[in-house]
Amino acid sequence: MEPENLVIVGSGPAGLTAALYTARAGLRPLVLEGEAGREGGIPGGQLMVTTEVENFPGFPKGIGGPELMERIREQAVRFGARLEPGWVDGVEFGGWPFLLRAGDRSFRTRAAILCTGAGARFLGLPSEKALLNRGVSACATCDGALPIFRNKVLAVVGGGDSALEEALFLTRFASEVVVVHRRDRLRASKFMQEKARSHPKIRFAWNAVVREILDAAAGRVTGLRLEDAVTKKESILPCAGVFIAIGHEPNTGPFRGHLELDEQGYIRVSQGTRTSVEGVFAAGDCVDRVYRQAITAAGMGCMAAIDAERWLESRGF
Ligand code: NAP
Repeated sequence: MEPENLVIVGSGPAGLTAALYTARAGLRPLVLEGEAGREGGIPGGQLMVTTEVENFPGFPKGIGGPELMERIREQAVRFGARLEPGWVDGVEFGGWPFLLRAGDRSFRTRAAILCTGAGARFLGLPSEKALLNRGVSACATCDGALPIFRNKVLAVVGGGDSALEEALFLTRFASEVVVVHRRDRLRASKFMQEKARSHPKIRFAWNAVVREILDAAAGRVTGLRLEDAVTKKESILPCAGVFIAIGHEPNTGPFRGHLELDEQGYIRVSQGTRTSVEGVFAAGDCVDRVYRQAITAAGMGCMAAIDAERWLESRGF
């Protein structure tokens, strides 16, 4: 069987924009979309668990994350992109055409664009693991409306835009939302800070380091054991749920050892979107630790598409 011209791994804004561009260029790309139910594997990427996107140009009134992704997907399909569920868990970049594996299926391809995005980071506490999905969540949009969280005090850990977005969203269900931050200053944008600080249901626990999520023995969340980062004093914050919003990690595990990653696991690119393997390109949050926006991911997806198209052309395809 002939290899694919191009396989795009991931279907967030980067993957689908790469698909749109390469489909329009007549390459008939195959997009392996990810797989629902896997950490970081949601088809459509992180925007599928975002409520309102207010900063994607062209939507002056904002647009729902899932709707935005559905529109880009439709646009890519219209030009001939083929989309299939699939979670890439193994690669062989040593030979050419390249080989990508997704479970028991394998795909041979002349070029690849990796757009696997990033997934939620966790605190790494044993109690957090024990209570995951039993009051501990990394996604307010997915879990916030659950009955166990209704009219309860909920905690959000983190001080960035994600934490404040989660906190604002949770005010719909909670009696009170406490943002637990390890410093006394937020990292979030001014706009989000103003929105959160002025919300009557949101308060902040400053310099608060989570030492334990209570109560693993009871099998449900009853509170947080906090340590003050300055005084080292411990206290208990009673709450019925905790949402971890401390940033993300790139979904690049399957590529480790096959192309160059930086010390935090992001794919290294040079001259645009070229990885250390000729013919393999990368875009979006699996590369970008700085900007991490839907629009920048889409922009990089476009760059990767153009780079891949030119590279294939130079090889006569
Ligand atoms: P982020 O900006 O990296 O913030 C992560 C937060 O978690 C920081 O406040 C950090 O504390 C804290 N943190 C990290 N590790 C921790 C640990 N082990 N224990 C306790 N706290 C920890 O990540 P993000 O909020 O996910 O945002 C990522 C990007 O997406 C940003 O560029 C953001 O602007 C963007 N974003 C935008 C929107 C929006 O515009 N509506 C919404 C969501 C995200 P320190 O501050 O002390 O480092």
